[in-house]
Amino acid sequence: MTLGRFAPSPTGVLHLGNLRTALASWLSARKAGGRWIVRMEDVDGPRCRRDLGEAQLRDLAALGLESDAPVLWQSDRSAVYRETLTALHRANRLYSCLCTRKDLQLLASAPHTEDGLRAYPGRCRGRAWEGFDRALRLRLSDGPLTWEDRLLGAQVDDPVALTGDPLLFRRDGCFAYHLAVVVDDGAQGVTEVVRGADLRSVTATQIRLQEALSLPRPTYAHLGMVAAPDGTRLGKRAGALGLEALAARGVSPAEALGWLGWSLGCLDRPEPCTASDLIGAFDWTKVPKDESRVPTAWT
Ligand code: GLU
Repeated sequence: MTLGRFAPSPTGVLHLGNLRTALASWLSARKAGGRWIVRMEDVDGPRCRRDLGEAQLRDLAALGLESDAPVLWQSDRSAVYRETLTALHRANRLYSCLCTRKDLQLLASAPHTEDGLRAYPGRCRGRAWEGFDRALRLRLSDGPLTWEDRLLGAQVDDPVALTGDPLLFRRDGCFAYHLAVVVDDGAQGVTEVVRGADLRSVTATQIRLQEALSLPRPTYAHLGMVAAPDGTRLGKRAGALGLEALAARGVSPAEALGWLGWSLGCLDRPEPCTASDLIGAFDWTKVPKDESRVPTAWT
């Protein structure tokens, strides 16, 4: 059975870009007659807050998007992540990384990935595992990987060039995003991942980690980003409004849903609706690949 998920990081208010991802993942799962869950990705220490996560869940509920299972908070799962790292260590896939942020900035040879991240150049690859006192990286297997994106079609990526060996554990004791996302998609039995195009370039790396853990590969779909009316990235100053700020501008959840549903190709024009109204019309072949821009009146 299809299991979709929405996995926000509780570091702020869900803006229209996040809500569009949530809605698309929900519609895709519901259209397939499947289930849908929310997972809180709060491994990133102090930037993540429970109260922000609770507020995100309230906003999702206001749109009619409620998790079919109790919400999993990744900060409760340290023991599982630690066991997974120990298993990867036994399989000889981890090494300790002593590079500082500054070292990495100084390595002029480090290529840039498409979204501006630097690929780790592998400087500590020859090191052994030195326990949980140091940062840990996965030794990626070489070579390109082919994977299928439901929206973008066949993708061929070289994870070594795109991200380099991913960090799985940070020196400050935090488990890293790549580890938590792959472990939990596997543990929860997620069969489809729908998320923003900003994560397209890390997908091959995450698939390599799935392979190392013998986890099944879910389907992937990377949605075009939601941009400000002038095409710039959504940010504090550029229309990254949540439902509360939209309500203050007179925009109801039903109107927000109408715009989101229209931007996903479910409606001919943005008109107020409920999330359930959109299920019948949702069709991956109609979802636009390019970015959507927030209406000027909503900024
Ligand atoms: N937690 C990630 C984020 O909020 C998303 C992870 C994912 O969808 O794979 O950016």
